[in-house]
Amino acid sequence: MAHLWQGVIQEYSAFFTHNILDNIVTLQEGGTPLIHATQLESLFADAKPTIYVKFEGANPTGSFKDRGMTAAVSNAVSHGAKTLVCASTGNTSASAAAYAAKAGLDSAVLVPTGKIAVGKLSQAIAHNAKVLQIDGNFDDCLIVARELSENYPVELVNSVNPARIEGQKTAPFEIIDVLGRPPDIHALPVGNAGNISAYWKGYNEYKVARKCDTLPKMYGFQASGAAPIVLGKKVDNPETIATAIRIGNPASWENALNARDESGGLIDMVTDDEILVAHKLLSKKAAIFCEPASAAGLAGILKLHKQGMLPKKQLIVITCTGHGLKDPSWALKESALDVSEFEPIRVANDVSEVAKVLKL
Ligand SMILES: *Cc1c(COP(=O)(O)O)cnc(C)c1O
Repeated sequence: MAHLWQGVIQEYSAFFTHNILDNIVTLQEGGTPLIHATQLESLFADAKPTIYVKFEGANPTGSFKDRGMTAAVSNAVSHGAKTLVCASTGNTSASAAAYAAKAGLDSAVLVPTGKIAVGKLSQAIAHNAKVLQIDGNFDDCLIVARELSENYPVELVNSVNPARIEGQKTAPFEIIDVLGRPPDIHALPVGNAGNISAYWKGYNEYKVARKCDTLPKMYGFQASGAAPIVLGKKVDNPETIATAIRIGNPASWENALNARDESGGLIDMVTDDEILVAHKLLSKKAAIFCEPASAAGLAGILKLHKQGMLPKKQLIVITCTGHGLKDPSWALKESALDVSEFEPIRVANDVSEVAKVLKL
């Protein structure tokens, strides 16, 4: 009989504690595709990597945030919370609003001024969240959300909530279950740094449980206009078209450094144009439509290869964190500098004219 995927908590229940297992709120998140991206491998000629993409855009609300949210909201329900609050550049709010709706809770999301992708905002509103735009950036929103949760009866569901990391650690379990081993290198974007921390925790827990013998090197990539970990200091006004990683003071900074150092990996940065080149390659060659931030992992691997820094014959998994429909306008632009809009080719209402344009 076909196995119907139950969501990450039930699928990996041995790796969760009672506070999360007792009242499971799920949209059957996880179980996302791990796509062998042969078309991308040819970009690396001599390095001969094997590349898989973990496509987290296939989660119920379109990003990996759902893995963490099922655990955070299950935990919140277990201790009787009635209202969820989060600071968000978009995807956390979309996910929090959806899981709050599923659990019958209220939700409030604090978003920074400007630059919220319309797809994400519409999800939060559709799922009935109160959306408050704070006069400040993401880091300011997180401070307000934290203080709100310390002084009022609301549950903070940002990745500083440990249950979020517990849920997000399941992506590496799935990767090992499919590949039969961890990759040599795991590449992913880094914003608030919860996800790279969660992956490292997951890989380690699976090794302790004797589900694998090795651990990957963790390669994290920030946007060059929002690269506090790379620069070694907070960035006051982070800027990047990759809004999901536009963060100047990551909450999980220490854990990200741990993941980097314990794994023998690295945290580097990529420019907006490198991100958009990788975004186009993912769409045009691998047929994976992700949002700009999601392309940072591939952008980083390409950068390392260009610098001669990518080891040869590696098994590489790249996490594409969110769906392209979240922030679709970037598909229509040539680069971060040229933001002129796409113009369709105009053709007469005539089949032979259409055929001629198509060179048939
Ligand atoms: C949240 C998010 C990130 C960044 O993840 P962190 O855990 O904050 O480092 C990257 N991409 C997308 C699409 C996201 O939603």
